[in-house]
Amino acid sequence: MFDKFHEECAVMGVYGHPEAANMVYLGLYALQHRGQESCGIVSSDGKGLISHRQMGLVADVFREDVIKRLEGSRAIGHNRYSTTGQSHLKNAQPFVVEYSQGPIAISHNGNLVNAEVLRKELEDSGSIFQSTSDTEVIIHLIATSKESTLMGRIVEALSRARGAYSLLFLTLDRMIAARDPMGFRPLVVGRFNSGPNEGAYVVASETCALDLIEATYEREVEPGEIITFSANGMESLKPFPPAPQAKCIFEYVYFSRPDSNLYGHNVYQVRKALGRQLARESAVNADLVTPVPDSGVPAAMGFAEESGIPLEFGLIRNHYVGRTFIEPQQSIRHFGVKIKLNAQREVLQGKRVVVVDDSIVRGTTSRKIIRMLRDAGAKEVHMRISSPATISPCYYGIDTPTRSELIASSSSVEEIRRFIEADTLAYLSREGMYTYFNGQSRGFCDACFSGNYPVHFEDEGHTRQLHLFEAVSR
Ligand code: AMP
Repeated sequence: MFDKFHEECAVMGVYGHPEAANMVYLGLYALQHRGQESCGIVSSDGKGLISHRQMGLVADVFREDVIKRLEGSRAIGHNRYSTTGQSHLKNAQPFVVEYSQGPIAISHNGNLVNAEVLRKELEDSGSIFQSTSDTEVIIHLIATSKESTLMGRIVEALSRARGAYSLLFLTLDRMIAARDPMGFRPLVVGRFNSGPNEGAYVVASETCALDLIEATYEREVEPGEIITFSANGMESLKPFPPAPQAKCIFEYVYFSRPDSNLYGHNVYQVRKALGRQLARESAVNADLVTPVPDSGVPAAMGFAEESGIPLEFGLIRNHYVGRTFIEPQQSIRHFGVKIKLNAQREVLQGKRVVVVDDSIVRGTTSRKIIRMLRDAGAKEVHMRISSPATISPCYYGIDTPTRSELIASSSSVEEIRRFIEADTLAYLSREGMYTYFNGQSRGFCDACFSGNYPVHFEDEGHTRQLHLFEAVSR
């Protein structure tokens, strides 16, 4: 395979609202868990695009004066996190470029698997890249397209892209949402159905962003669909041949917020069900079940419910610390675990403890947590993971580390148990993960757990076969 950096991101856009940038700001705030390194908003006042991008958290970056500057009734935004070495402002989104028909901004969640090849091709023919992000490839493909209309250019550009994209574009008068034909990453449409801003549209990575701004969920942007929001309302286009779907199962396991509804199911309910199934598969005699907060909480509740073992919070989280893992430097990551979690002796002393988390990636956090539990008096520690072992990196927009850093890519469950120093360790089976979906794994991407990649770098040959499509007016 190839080696590239990975990005975790959120996108958010509002069309037809007098306080569009403010709404996008709130949405990005609700989506902060999807990326914590940089954020940005671009608005359109009909005359130009106004942009603000900065390293840092949404609430710190978008102070009142900054939002005031972002005038106009449409805006798109972005939260971003990426792995080491790429954390520069130049990679912060939305990107804005000028092309022959005016300015265009883009926000992207996902990773393209053929970005390197396309980039080289574009550079060879004169495109000059400003960032190391594969999102810029899409922009250059649009800018260099020979199609006459913007939609024609977008369709042509996207027909060359392989991999994962949930995208938002903003021009002076339009917002456009697009999702790759396999539907790797989520993207939902909402609407303001009452009040002074009735009729305004929202597009967001997750439904929790709609809830905050009191927009009503309408539907998903379907895989392969491109939706234009303009003075004509909402217009849908499906220019690509149908493809097998590959919705990310890890969004349910870990990444999405539990209060979001994803691909038709509530994430919290799915996580609880994963915990119940885990208890059915890997029961253990114990005195209490304790979650690794926050990611393990719903699964631990399900485990406790199914096993009849009481749920107790043996680990308390400092809520002012972000997701520890979402820190680019190893040193901070290591430091992070203790800053974030504290073990309660009063709960754990002399107890046989089942500790539930959603996943083990490198194993370093789990190892520290188990030590903390023992130091606080736990007599036995049984680790239960509400997903299968993470054996393969994600190339579609989740920041799993390289294969060599994934402990389960080279170690057996027993070796991992020894490394994390648990008395017992069990993962959920792959079949068990799909119990909630009636055993139906079709339509999901679970490459991180199975190694089955729905789109490969090797598929590159296909990118040269441009799909024929009708040029779409405007
Ligand atoms: P470790 O034991 O060091 O592998 O860390 C496991 C923890 O990382 C679990 O609590 C997971 O919830 C969390 N985790 C898994 N995947 C990710 C991710 N992509 N970003 C941030 N945290 C993650």
